[in-house]
Amino acid sequence: MQFKDLGLAEPILKALAAKNYENPTPIQAQSIPPLLEGRDLCGIAQTGTGKTAAFALPSLDYFFRNPKPTPLHSTRMLVLSPTRELAAQIADSLRDYARFMRLSVQTVFGGVPINKQIRGLQAGVDILVATPGRLIDLIEQRAFHLNGVEIFVLDEADQMMDMGFILPLKRLVKMLPKQRQNLFFSATMPKEIAE
Ligand code: AMP
Repeated sequence: MQFKDLGLAEPILKALAAKNYENPTPIQAQSIPPLLEGRDLCGIAQTGTGKTAAFALPSLDYFFRNPKPTPLHSTRMLVLSPTRELAAQIADSLRDYARFMRLSVQTVFGGVPINKQIRGLQAGVDILVATPGRLIDLIEQRAFHLNGVEIFVLDEADQMMDMGFILPLKRLVKMLPKQRQNLFFSATMPKEIAE
């Protein structure tokens, strides 16, 4: 199978060609078709298997087919990640795959001054990659809300649990609009994650 057989929009295929990616990895080949149909997905995948593109490409395709103004103080796609390093990596990949589209991608994580992040989010952002704690801080300061979210991605769920993010996670999920697409990735699927 090749990427061009999956029906992805032209600017996405162009970005993949620029990276010399021709064939989807197994997780990509399995995830992309159902995600393009708008279905929810629960995927077991380790880092290094091409998981980022597995959720990035169909989401970018959705944005290409459903253009909308960026929601003020909110985002159309929220990606939650356990660490700032991972969040930064995911955002870099998203920018790379979206290089031929006009989409804004931002990260928020703790350990850096919050005021700059508040200013950066005022006009809203198409895709936000965040760690749970700092995102909650921004919401509590009324600098951001989740009403605009159409696609919700939970990445590295097991690592998120190990780091004690279960309560922040539950709080954030309650704030999401009911109508949304859910993508859930974990390297392992123990019972509490499955629940
Ligand atoms: P990830 O698991 O998302 O961190 O991806 C692992 C690495 O594989 C990253 O450097 C990606 O850029 C690269 N990659 C992802 N998908 C493909 C693909 N279909 N063909 C070649 N490399 C890929």
